[in-house]
Amino acid sequence: MSSQTVLLLPGDGIGPEVMAQARRVAEILVPDIKFETGLVGGASFDMHGTPMADETLEKARHVDAVLLGAVGGPKWNNVARDKRPEAGLLAIRKGLDVFANLRPAYCFPALVDASSLKREIIEGLDLMIVRELTGDVYFGEPRGIDVDDEGYRRGYDTALYTHPEIERVTRVAFDIARERKGQVCSVEKSNVMESGLFWRQEVTLAHAEFGAGIELTHMYADACAMELVRAPKQFDVILAGNLFGDILSDEASMLTGSIGMLPSASLGSPGTPGLYEPVHGSAPDIAGQGIANPCAMILSLEMALRWSLDREKAADALFAAVGKALENGARTKDLGGDLSTEGMADAIIAAL
Ligand code: ATP
Ligand code: MG
Repeated sequence: MSSQTVLLLPGDGIGPEVMAQARRVAEILVPDIKFETGLVGGASFDMHGTPMADETLEKARHVDAVLLGAVGGPKWNNVARDKRPEAGLLAIRKGLDVFANLRPAYCFPALVDASSLKREIIEGLDLMIVRELTGDVYFGEPRGIDVDDEGYRRGYDTALYTHPEIERVTRVAFDIARERKGQVCSVEKSNVMESGLFWRQEVTLAHAEFGAGIELTHMYADACAMELVRAPKQFDVILAGNLFGDILSDEASMLTGSIGMLPSASLGSPGTPGLYEPVHGSAPDIAGQGIANPCAMILSLEMALRWSLDREKAADALFAAVGKALENGARTKDLGGDLSTEGMADAIIAAL
């Protein structure tokens, strides 16, 4: 295998704390991978006056995967909007042209009883939400707040999807489902929205062309929101547009317990680097204390190994090691234990 490089962007708050542990794990698990580091968010603003420097973005485009910690914090509250740490995140997502956001909702067996949901609902839960990231009401034109012909003030957005946007994200969902149970549930509101009807038609067409072996079903977004709470184990892969995907992925993340456990991936075209980051933010309230749960960051590394680095075996081993460490009772504070960030990583490394 030719040499692979991963760019680490630790960022702000607990970002550097959890990133340091993910790096330790990676250096043991995949010692041949090269790591470079860069600044993003407030850390970059303090050094370069911008939350994402052009050189860093250029570097990100030429590596095999990018791991990002978290950005933001009270220190930068008064910085102009386009220089805020969060703008660095948007810049790198745009710069890498990632269009598919993957958020798994998986409950490790050892954490079933920590969930606020009933054991029957949560035990064995393992689903993946694939959210389209570049279209929909977030970017459709026209949009605005103005005055209509009758003199009434009004606000409006445009839900817009094109054929290529739907096709490429649908293919990602199929590829992911092939590594899982082979089931994709596509979500929209085709009963009330033209863009939703178009979404359903396009996903159906993509299925005929690229969906060999995939079982495709369709569900209205409101019904899906309900089913996610009532019986989430019926789902394997949920495919949704930008807006419904945003809402459903936040809903699904709360099925499994601590935010400190949840990784995410954002993927672009095949052959381009994916962006991997925890779902949680920079957690200024616990930053600097060494108590943050590193699992979300370590599981983001696991996704990078699987989806950008072609290291499925290493990914499987890492996933199993996290499960084993939890079974052995390893818990950070958010999980009701008293291990430090480093202690939690030690437990995972021991299980490896
Ligand atoms: P952002 O706007 O960046 O998403 P936020 O304040 O909305 O930030 P987080 O930074 O994710 O959200 O923090 C939410 C809560 O979860 C905080 O109380 C934080 O301490 C806790 N938290 C977040 N990540 C972790 C972690 N890895 N381990 C333990 N607790 C965490
Ligand atoms: Mg938040």
